[in-house]
Amino acid sequence: MKVMSINAGSSTLKFSLFNMDDESVIASGNFERIGMEGSFYTIKYRGEKVEQDVTLENHLDAINILLERLVSLSIISSLDEIKAIGHRIVNGGSLYQESVLITDKVIEDLILLKDYAPLHNPAHVLGIKACKEALPEVPMVAVFDTAFHQTMDPVNYLYPVPYSWYQEYGVRKYGAHGTSHRYIAKTISDILGKKDLKIISCHLGSGASVCAIKDGKCVDTSMGFTPLAGVMMGTRSGDIDPSIIPFVMEKEGKNASEIIDDLNHHSGLLGVSRTSNDMRDIVAGMNEGNENCTLAAKKFDRTVVNYIASYYVLLGGCDVLCFTAGIGENSLETRMRIVELLRPLGFELDIEANNCRGELKKISKGKKKPLIYVVPTNEELMIARDTKRLVR
Ligand code: AMP
Repeated sequence: MKVMSINAGSSTLKFSLFNMDDESVIASGNFERIGMEGSFYTIKYRGEKVEQDVTLENHLDAINILLERLVSLSIISSLDEIKAIGHRIVNGGSLYQESVLITDKVIEDLILLKDYAPLHNPAHVLGIKACKEALPEVPMVAVFDTAFHQTMDPVNYLYPVPYSWYQEYGVRKYGAHGTSHRYIAKTISDILGKKDLKIISCHLGSGASVCAIKDGKCVDTSMGFTPLAGVMMGTRSGDIDPSIIPFVMEKEGKNASEIIDDLNHHSGLLGVSRTSNDMRDIVAGMNEGNENCTLAAKKFDRTVVNYIASYYVLLGGCDVLCFTAGIGENSLETRMRIVELLRPLGFELDIEANNCRGELKKISKGKKKPLIYVVPTNEELMIARDTKRLVR
């Protein structure tokens, strides 16, 4: 059974086509700069890579070209081979606790939920409508980044603000990266052959979040009402004192959305290091003795460790600590610094085993608990798995 997973952003569309009989990737790629000058696409298949400039006025153009290319490159022999499409959805609010088959009602809900993910949800709707128009007979599934976090207790998802903000406007923690954290929990549970596990999952990429998972269910997570909250990230601040916002607005004569833009795009590793939002550059700067890079790396570690330690207490211990995403999978130095700070809780790294990038591996010493793993995330596969299950 062939299943396509789609991640539609405001000007991008990423896809992976899976053979779900063995979960192998048949083809994957991106359409970039949709609706802009200089749009192009990349398709990878059977070790080949096709890259081409092309006019992409909208998401439907991208889908139509993708479908045409899949057949003309002989990746599939006919469009009938695509049995289902799964769409990544950033925010399903409190409406969606799990993945669902897409109906007109789901599309209407996504439009209503746009305030919770103004950059993402409208783009997802464009992607869904384009697929619906191009392949009207093919069933589609929505897989929400927020769904995994819907098992949080109100004590963990409520903010200590006027209760009416929650009741009237839905102000609460929704979290993000849920599909990734769910994939990590499932992978670890499969490896250890156990469901009753206390897992702390660290998705450390350009966006970063930590998630406390018990018996396969999310107990708490670091991202909040939006993906701006929680640990420090590439360009996002993570948690700060909200009083800073009106203070700097007055100092710099900026409005609220300009400050939020600073917190989303000019903060985090970039803000503190004044050099780069990329952990590779930060580590290189640190090795050269750059003080701001050193401070940025230490601040990053500190915010991640604070969440891990707090979730250790929340879960009543930890069986497995996991690292995933760009930094978590690849930055040996970051993993080493973080685990060193966690020593008082009994975490201990196997320095030799930690010398790995982008591979599934246990990196803690011997059989001693807590175990520590690197687990390459695979949100696209999780989307395809849910899609296959629901269309069946
Ligand atoms: P992601 O958002 O998961 O794609 O992660 C992207 C981030 O991963 C980049 O901005 C880098 O900070 C980080 N990254 C990728 N490769 C490495 C590496 N080899 N060492 C350190 N950081 C890396």
